[in-house]
Amino acid sequence: MQDRRLKNASPTATPLPRVLKPRRAAPTDAVRPTRAEVSLEGLRFNLRALRRVTQAPIYSVLKADAYGHGAKAVARTLERAGVNGVCVALLEEAIELREAGIQCPVLVMGGYYGHAWSEVLQHQLTPVIYDLSQLEALAKEASQAEHPAWNIHLKVDTGMARLGITASEFPKAVELLAAHPELKLQGFMTHFACADTSAESIAEQLDRFDAMTTTLVNRGLKPELRHAANSAALARSPRAHLDLVRPGIALFGVEPMPNSELNLKPVMRVSSQVIALRTLQAGQTVGYGATWKAQRPSVIATVPIGYADGLSRSASNNGFLLIRGKRAPIVGAVSMDLTTVDVTDIEGTQVTDEVVALGKQKGTHGEATITAQEIAARENTIPWEVLTNVSRRVPRFYRES
Ligand SMILES: *Cc1c(COP(=O)(O)O)cnc(C)c1O
Repeated sequence: MQDRRLKNASPTATPLPRVLKPRRAAPTDAVRPTRAEVSLEGLRFNLRALRRVTQAPIYSVLKADAYGHGAKAVARTLERAGVNGVCVALLEEAIELREAGIQCPVLVMGGYYGHAWSEVLQHQLTPVIYDLSQLEALAKEASQAEHPAWNIHLKVDTGMARLGITASEFPKAVELLAAHPELKLQGFMTHFACADTSAESIAEQLDRFDAMTTTLVNRGLKPELRHAANSAALARSPRAHLDLVRPGIALFGVEPMPNSELNLKPVMRVSSQVIALRTLQAGQTVGYGATWKAQRPSVIATVPIGYADGLSRSASNNGFLLIRGKRAPIVGAVSMDLTTVDVTDIEGTQVTDEVVALGKQKGTHGEATITAQEIAARENTIPWEVLTNVSRRVPRFYRES
């Protein structure tokens, strides 16, 4: 495919800066040991894995600070690894990436509050237009600017019923586009509701999408980039790949559905340390509300990670942390900054031992892994939320390996 990176590049863009260390208030050895390590090689590995599944260009979805991994570092890594574009949810997310030196096409899928179209133009972003009022407002803005034509992507609702031009509004949208040559319909997109569970629903939505495409083409409008596939549709349906694919979660190493076999590498690992140990007698209780009572003499380890870091309070008396390569059950309530685990059966546990909340650990008791899928299943949510819940308070450290 042709290289679109230069076409949309800002003429004033500066050379790519090196991947930055996260901002910290103090030197590394003076901060809390709780951290998220992000494997840049894991990202590159997953991009290569997806390239084996599709010939289509890949626009990585980096909304919500790249699913909690840090959008700037992730975008720089993927751009250097040859990703064809990135998608974000909000205008401010897109501007952050341009200011970090990202030059590839940036598709802004939403977040046009206050119709800030001049900023879209100024930062050379590609807007996704999902309703008629936006289409009218952007046409006005574009006709006043000096650009001969401005690339937009139009989003249609083929079954998600969330955002997108509906079937009944579509004829009006087509007329508006035909009347405004200063807006170039570069892209035409939709989004799947059930890509992870149903091949039939993908096919039904694609049938509607194809029919709408025919209407466009009959009116002389021929989008060069038609796209629909998230990670699950990329894994499940070659027909959905179209002219580009929009994977998010798969790049971060999470299989997008139960039996996809993309063989991905997890990218984020969250770890901390044991900071205190105590021995309880049978009958003593732990934590707020005294929700756990020792049934035998027990050793309890305290770890400085809590719900304010993204370890859900629903892991109270329910989840695990890894110590010395073994699972330690969380006992008592997870509190804002601290969590307690039962290490009675993990002999030799000491203060400063590493603790893993997400990812793999090897230690004197073997090897164990906690995946985002496992946490999601236990907490009745999805891996996407487990990743985006890792809060701002947890510094991200970027590893090349
Ligand atoms: C989030 C999102 C994606 C990526 O979804 P994954 O399931 O994480 O791959 C793709 N397209 C749109 C419109 C999205 O909002």
